Amino acid sequence: MNDLIANEPQIRLFAFFSILAIMIVWQVVKPRRAYQKPLQEKAKRWTSHALMMVVSTLLIRLTLPFSAAAFALYIADNNLALFGFSLPLIIGVILLDCLIYWQHRIFHKVPILWRLHRVHHSDETLDVTSAIRFHPIEIFLSMLIKFVAIWMFGLSAATVIIFEIILNGMAMFNHSNARIPADNILRLIFVTPDMHRVHHSVYGNETNSNYGFNMSIWDRIFASYIAQPKDGHDAMTIGLKEYPGGESGLKGLLEMPFKR
Ligand SMILES: [Zn+2]
Repeated sequence: MNDLIANEPQIRLFAFFSILAIMIVWQVVKPRRAYQKPLQEKAKRWTSHALMMVVSTLLIRLTLPFSAAAFALYIADNNLALFGFSLPLIIGVILLDCLIYWQHRIFHKVPILWRLHRVHHSDETLDVTSAIRFHPIEIFLSMLIKFVAIWMFGLSAATVIIFEIILNGMAMFNHSNARIPADNILRLIFVTPDMHRVHHSVYGNETNSNYGFNMSIWDRIFASYIAQPKDGHDAMTIGLKEYPGGESGLKGLLEMPFKR
């Protein structure tokens, strides 16, 4: 575990680029939906998504003096956990997954938070890069929520690092335009691309369903599960009615929460 903490940046970068590469190849070899956009549009969209991630990283680095893992170490070393106990790793990971489910649901429900989160939903197509298309302020707020969870439940640094690696990997997996074998079996426990695609439908009831990122059980337990999109995966429209055709420019994405 000490190795994990000491080599956190390298391990995270390795996991990120490996899963990114695997899902890019998977999308090309076994695509789920046909891609009709011109290549130029795709390049612009991919560039904007990558830059969104860069801006988010800079914002976090410049505003928060330490990482979530460093904060967890500090809480543990000084016995500062609110309830005075520290949850075991696996329980902590499952708890964070449940928490992020509710965080996601609240970002859909509260108008000011939806302004931030709709940047993610305004994507007119879905692929592996949709997983990094989040407004920097949403990333910042998620980080603060994570800090509170660490403090309340005494989550260890290893718990936080492992959860973040799983979350990043699963987000890339379930946003990808890949055809997954045995989807029906896999989705009994995990969120699959077909399950998450429903969440990106233009229909309001479908947008407000399937909030889970990692485990599919939360949507079943908290009654927000929709198995398939009404129009089918090939014919369904992805995005938001307010942004027909989507938004793929960096400036437009960054300004979106502050407009209309
Ligand atoms: Zn959402």
